[in-house]
Amino acid sequence: MDFSILKTLTSLPGISGRESAVRQYVQQQAAPYADDVRTDALGNLIVYKKGASNKNLLLAAHMDEVGLMVHYVGADGFLRFVTVGGIDPRTLLAQRVTVHTAGGPLVGVIGTRPAHVTTEADRGKAVPAKDLFIDVGLSGAEAQTRVQPGDFVTLRREYEEFGSGLITAKALDNRAGVFVLLELLKEVKNPFYNIYAVFTVQEEVGLRGAVTAAYGVEADLALAIDTTGAADIPGTAPQDYITAVGQGVGVTALDARTITHEGLFAALKQLCLEKQIRYQVRIAPRGGNDAGAIHLSKTGVPCCALSIPTRYIHSNTEVQSKDDLQQTLALALAVAQTELAL
Ligand SMILES: [Zn+2]
Repeated sequence: MDFSILKTLTSLPGISGRESAVRQYVQQQAAPYADDVRTDALGNLIVYKKGASNKNLLLAAHMDEVGLMVHYVGADGFLRFVTVGGIDPRTLLAQRVTVHTAGGPLVGVIGTRPAHVTTEADRGKAVPAKDLFIDVGLSGAEAQTRVQPGDFVTLRREYEEFGSGLITAKALDNRAGVFVLLELLKEVKNPFYNIYAVFTVQEEVGLRGAVTAAYGVEADLALAIDTTGAADIPGTAPQDYITAVGQGVGVTALDARTITHEGLFAALKQLCLEKQIRYQVRIAPRGGNDAGAIHLSKTGVPCCALSIPTRYIHSNTEVQSKDDLQQTLALALAVAQTELAL
């Protein structure tokens, strides 16, 4: 796998509903390997690759990342914002951000109140997002000219590889899934299924893109390739890990939006055993992903979420294992190549 592609993907800005920079790059990367490429009205990118049978496999990966949107530019030049997608405000304090304006990107910082104007009781407390502000280093008049309500904001953090085969970046949720799906399009040879690789929009605000994307495809089978929380960190008991980094692809049995089709769940685990793909069963009563929308499309579609374990998910220090991405790709490729008996 060419991880420089993932590095580029994580550097691109694309909160929910503002995915065009990501879509443009993915389209460019996928086009040489596609028989057809189209975009639907919501912004989903649908890449088609013909297979050997008349059966259709939908593979979904969402392009959007969690982020912020400016809702007020103060006379003092400071920006107030709303969050887009599930962000814990504790992770926003003292971060650098990029404000995407019509005139180009601006650097900003999310400021904190210095110790000498806070009380002992304030310290160590979470600050709600409505009380946070972005400092773009401009006067009130300059800020009001250059920044408009509705401009979107992304976190700033470089992609880095570290430790034993790990990576950290912003937006690994879900550029990692997008990356795996792009690699699949490049590597798949003579697939059994007609492949519809769907790069969806607005997953982080309630699986919205997947609703129209799935409607537009007559899928016989589907996989959602996405990230999931890995709580294999100090202070968490092993039974609460959900997944663990470096232990392989998460094959979802159940999450808040989906109970995986019984036959598909069994077939995927069998495939992992046959192909020596490292996997872990994912059970996440509080998480959801595009599978939640896809499996309810039309008269129903057998669908499973392949989940990439991610520590510190929805922060700008997300952590994943390169090997987990390899295992996820291996399983998705194995599904695409041969007919699955459900
Ligand atoms: Zn996600």
